[in-house]
Amino acid sequence: MEDSNQSFRDRPLNIDDSGKSKKIFAKQPKGKWYKRRTWFAWFCIFFLVLAPIIRINGNPLMLFDIANRKFSIFGNLIWAQDTFILALIMLIVVVFIVLFTVVYGRLWCGWACPQTIFLEMIFRRVEYLFEGNHRKKSNQEIDNISKNLLIVGKHISFILISIFFTNVFLMWFTGPEKLLEIIKSPISENRQGFIIMIGISVFYYIIYAYLREQVCIFFCPYGRLQGVLLDSKSISVTYDYKRGEPRGAKNEGDCIDCGQCITVCPTGIDIKNGSQFECINCTACLDECNIVMKKIKKPANLIRFDSVHGIETGKSSIANMRTYAYSGVLIILIFVFGFTVSYRSSLDVSIIRMPGTMYQEVDSANITNIYNVKVINKTNHTKKISYKLIDFQKGELQFTNDITTLQGEKASQSVLLLKLPIQLLKSRTTDLKIGVYENEELITISKINFIGPQK
Ligand code: SF4
Ligand code: SF4
Repeated sequence: MEDSNQSFRDRPLNIDDSGKSKKIFAKQPKGKWYKRRTWFAWFCIFFLVLAPIIRINGNPLMLFDIANRKFSIFGNLIWAQDTFILALIMLIVVVFIVLFTVVYGRLWCGWACPQTIFLEMIFRRVEYLFEGNHRKKSNQEIDNISKNLLIVGKHISFILISIFFTNVFLMWFTGPEKLLEIIKSPISENRQGFIIMIGISVFYYIIYAYLREQVCIFFCPYGRLQGVLLDSKSISVTYDYKRGEPRGAKNEGDCIDCGQCITVCPTGIDIKNGSQFECINCTACLDECNIVMKKIKKPANLIRFDSVHGIETGKSSIANMRTYAYSGVLIILIFVFGFTVSYRSSLDVSIIRMPGTMYQEVDSANITNIYNVKVINKTNHTKKISYKLIDFQKGELQFTNDITTLQGEKASQSVLLLKLPIQLLKSRTTDLKIGVYENEELITISKINFIGPQK
């Protein structure tokens, strides 16, 4: 392990003097935070696997059907036309990334990031199973042949897990039925899809078998943003240097410099050196140090969730105005999103004047305008609808196609001929509203304008 007394380093800890990367074999953590993370990780994994399968009102809990430009978010169908909702989702993501990170540091990285969950909760656990915790067993207790067989076993397991989760990942875009159909059909019928699946599986396997923490340290753009997003009041896993220093078994500080916090660190860093960009806030060092503190009969939480400001002043800054305010903004945005999704119209109706057309005189008393109509049924069931001109009772709507019966999740198109008595028109352009009704209940209104002769 690295020298824990280092005060300066010019490269990440998993890079050696020659510039090559060094493998980190972290010890499996134990303790209440690891247990909490394990429960949360399994919840996330179950959600990942089951979300496209579970149905709410006939819609998948989660589905990103990019090919058909429709998404199902918590059972609500959202279409590419729902631009306001899609913009809101992007806003929530940006607010989450920026505000949430400013306050809570890399909580996402340690707890909810798929990279951490897969690596720590699945791949590393499989590795512990085959090679022993912290490589102790393979290094000391067994012969070379058995060791190699275990390594092969580990890699076969990694490949199978990679293929499984690649299919789960694809299910989020295809839905379970389509995925099953693809799996059952011969490869020759889905050569392209098969190549994509194998490509993603190989990528997935390389990440978890070889790249591992390097993804967090070198590739992850969110990780690279931390330097500009965090400040002295951001909450993160922090070493209480005021309490711990001067460290050493014979010194006054509570830290006995045992190095246990480094052995469990998945990125191989020493948290005692302060906030570092490799730290994913996984809490492993926190748990490990608490075990040490218990053994030496010192108070727990020498390493804890706190801010640099909190450590300096001795006042914990987890709950303050800033955390309340930022969390409030995020909760409001999520509430607005939920409200918008729940109360948006189940139909998307667009009525646009046919390009290049003016009005047509039907007879001396009436004129018509022509419009293109497109209606999308955003629900998964058939709808029977009717159209009425809201402003004038004497207006007449004629559609070239039947767009009163709409199949679920389908778009229908027609041309509309709108006939109005000339006497009703007060100016050359008249704003009108067409109401769309289901069982006499108004679902949505489409605004159009009607062109007549100069008045
Ligand atoms: S585990 Fe705790 S006591 Fe041991 S070196 Fe780390 S901070 Fe110090
Ligand atoms: S320093 Fe601690 S919290 Fe940060 S990555 Fe290492 S073990 Fe996890």
